[in-house]
Amino acid sequence: MPEKYHIATKPVPPRRPRIGKYGIVDWREDCARCHNCVKKACVYDRHRDEVKYIRNLDSVDALFFDCMGCFSCVQDCTKNLLCLSINPEYEKLGNSYWTPEIIQTTWVQAETAKIPVSGAGYGGKFSGYGFDSMWTDMSEIVRPTRDGIHGREYINSAVDIGQKSSFLVLNGDNVVSPLSPILSIPMPLIIDRIPDKYALPKLDAIIVETAVKTGLIALVDAKKWPLTGVDADKCLPHIAFYFASDATMLPREILEKTRLAEIEDDRNVKSRIRELKQIHPGIVVTVRVELTAGGIQRAIDLADEDVEVIHIKADSNGQEIGSEHPMFIKDMIRNVHRTLVEKGRRDDLTIIAGGGIALPEHMAKGVLCGADLVSIELPLLVGLECHLCHQCGDSHTCPAKIQEISLSYGVGRMTNLISAWHDQLVELMGAMGMRDARRLRGDVGRAMFFEQLEEEAFGRLFGNRLQA
Ligand code: SF4
Ligand code: SF4
Repeated sequence: MPEKYHIATKPVPPRRPRIGKYGIVDWREDCARCHNCVKKACVYDRHRDEVKYIRNLDSVDALFFDCMGCFSCVQDCTKNLLCLSINPEYEKLGNSYWTPEIIQTTWVQAETAKIPVSGAGYGGKFSGYGFDSMWTDMSEIVRPTRDGIHGREYINSAVDIGQKSSFLVLNGDNVVSPLSPILSIPMPLIIDRIPDKYALPKLDAIIVETAVKTGLIALVDAKKWPLTGVDADKCLPHIAFYFASDATMLPREILEKTRLAEIEDDRNVKSRIRELKQIHPGIVVTVRVELTAGGIQRAIDLADEDVEVIHIKADSNGQEIGSEHPMFIKDMIRNVHRTLVEKGRRDDLTIIAGGGIALPEHMAKGVLCGADLVSIELPLLVGLECHLCHQCGDSHTCPAKIQEISLSYGVGRMTNLISAWHDQLVELMGAMGMRDARRLRGDVGRAMFFEQLEEEAFGRLFGNRLQA
């Protein structure tokens, strides 16, 4: 059995007061001072925690909101003195896509490296926008792949990046057909560049160190090299340089230590790929295609031009860029994947999909829709207690004080988050009866889509839903 992919983690507590969803308001007046006060019965011990918290409070705007919202104390208080309240700071987190729930669950994973537990039953909506209108088929949950999660078998989350040959030409025992370089990474995830809006110089070093620690690859703008505080020999195998159209090539001795590079899509794509391959024949080159109105077609056209990897990228909310009626990333991935399958070109290239990948389930769903792997950036920033404020920059006081973070805090939190994502991928694959992440790609038979189910159930009765 191959050695299991394992990420070493340890808890990294938050630097800032927790911004939970619920808090308890205790009216106190008319308290009967019951001997068996319901506060003592809180299984999470939140009332005692609150007392300790208040003793050490150094900022009046950081009240204690860390209740789990189980309602036990609220319901059982004989004088009805306790009531549950929702934290207004919690409701301000993120935006309509990066919801407070997503941000808070990311914080918990970055702190503990554990899979978040929401309690018995799912209290949310049946279906929603984007990835929430897609479900994975967990009907294999009792099958032997469950053993992979608990150690007796191996669930392989590794994927390959590069062009796979569809046939081999042999001369005796020798393979004579050209073989393209391929690199394997331990889970279907690479780390993308943090958008300029949120970028801080120290984040690059933290992200690169995290890539080394997790065995993944991080995209770094070639214009920023060399990064301060980074051991080049250790980090370069985990760095993929991004070359914008106007970026100059890096020296051979630097490039030769890397395994992947990304170039901006332009008319010179082919010559830039050739240039990179001449310097370092073993490098895999990906072309970044922004998913604007013509993005899907451009990705499909590039596949005809013998490009080995395409990185399709929606905006940070997973939407088509610059469109009034944008498609969502899952539909765009399916479109590109299906068209390439129909053309018989799908196995000739790797598709990396990014934009709107906010939760580990999105990683798995992106792959089920047809991507080989996904790219993420904002979840790692959120892991550092970022609120994803509407404005971020010099004129705005950062509530997460991101500029004060240390390397060990940043790397620890990002590593924890990636480990929790990996564990959830393995859980999900185990429940789906899948032992190899490569087999997840495009396997929509293992997924259910709300629109499709609705049409099958009600289309003949009520007609089809009007599309925007
Ligand atoms: S609602 Fe539940 S978790 Fe919150 S303080 Fe009361 S008993 Fe504890
Ligand atoms: S928390 Fe700080 S880094 Fe995050 S968006 Fe707000 S200002 Fe920017």
